[in-house]
Amino acid sequence: MRNTFRGGVHPLHHIGEGKPLTQACPIRVYSADTVVIPVGMHLGAPSAPCVAKGQRVKMGEVIATPVGGFGLPVHASVSGEVLFVEERQMLRNRPEVCIGIQNDHLDEWVELTPMNAQNATPAEIIAAVKNAGICGMGGAAFPTHVKMSIPEGKKADVVILNGAECEPYLTADHRMMLEQSERIVEGIKLILRATGVSRAVLAIETNKPDAIARMREAVSGESAISVLPLKTKYPQGSEKQLIHVVTGREVPRGKLPLDAGALVFNFSTAAAVYDAVALGKPLVERVTTVTCGVKEPSNLLLRVGTRYEDAINACGGLVEGARKVFAGGPMTGLCAADLNVTMTKATNGIVVFDDQQAKEVEESACIRCARCVHVCPIGLHPYLMRTDLDRRDTDSAKQHGLMDCVLCSACSYICPARRYLSSSFKAAREDLAAKARR
Ligand code: SF4
Ligand code: SF4
Repeated sequence: MRNTFRGGVHPLHHIGEGKPLTQACPIRVYSADTVVIPVGMHLGAPSAPCVAKGQRVKMGEVIATPVGGFGLPVHASVSGEVLFVEERQMLRNRPEVCIGIQNDHLDEWVELTPMNAQNATPAEIIAAVKNAGICGMGGAAFPTHVKMSIPEGKKADVVILNGAECEPYLTADHRMMLEQSERIVEGIKLILRATGVSRAVLAIETNKPDAIARMREAVSGESAISVLPLKTKYPQGSEKQLIHVVTGREVPRGKLPLDAGALVFNFSTAAAVYDAVALGKPLVERVTTVTCGVKEPSNLLLRVGTRYEDAINACGGLVEGARKVFAGGPMTGLCAADLNVTMTKATNGIVVFDDQQAKEVEESACIRCARCVHVCPIGLHPYLMRTDLDRRDTDSAKQHGLMDCVLCSACSYICPARRYLSSSFKAAREDLAAKARR
């Protein structure tokens, strides 16, 4: 079977101690006593808080309003009393405005305004998605209503549902496919209607045969929706690779998937679209895999704003020797500085590594073996970019593809000299972005 891309790696955790830890764990509901909800969870300007300390809020109530064109509202994920509106240290190592709420565990919802999903117009669907505060739940957090609003002069002919879930250890999407297939399919139908695209392809890696079978069953009778099994390889879920596999087209350098005629959505996002339109529900909870260095690895349905510490305690606590916590998977996830950081709409995993797994390794000199070149899915020369950055020559690094790098870490994973490749590219890109902002 060809359905794959050039390059890539096979992290052992796919078949070893990774996904099997949680892939058979049904989704379990957990609700903590307090939530701390950041107002900047999506790609775009942070939302503006509109509640004050001491105020009582209902679940689903707007607690921060959108700012700017990419803006999204933020909703209370529990009912209860607002404890604070203040800056807290979150994942990106800089203070972010957060709203703390004491959960009264009554789950008293604000009045919801569901629509007749069969009759909703494209404009109504897109408005409902925006009002529900939905952003990409696969990690990128791009506002979904913006992605669904195809600008004049552009055209897409395929919607791709990204079911690769190629990051080691993560199984949240896998469980969603097994347990929530009807919601997902209804969400996909709404996405197709809103965007005017005539077909959808559900792209799922072959390491999830039960999910492939379940989704095939769920779309039988839906002529516009098909299931495409993908070879299991990392980073199969990277947008550019996925689009190439499904359509045979390349996303032009510096352009978006839409420029290759494709729109890519996450499975959980599709389910959230259904909730927004048919139930009138905002995005206040999501499924997250909490795994590896915890006593009871699980897939939890968690409220947005749940502290990592609470999520980990809901899984029996940390194992002895636990040392490093990733938000997301270990290949592309960010390291959490402490367990007070909280989960956002895009947090698909909390992965804990022990001393051995998190062991720092000294990098050594490049031996020019070119393994990094062979695995790079974009066809870059990572060792050259790193040499450029060591010389502080960012212009040359850019010429060698610094801005095209998808930061997948496949090069770092394979490098026998343990060179910090992907992390140096990420740091250089952040520097450039900070300079541009200044
Ligand atoms: S894989 Fe590592 S050692 Fe080999 S060429 Fe790339 S950077 Fe150098
Ligand atoms: S991190 Fe960048 S350079 Fe390294 S393999 Fe991935 S895309 Fe290529």
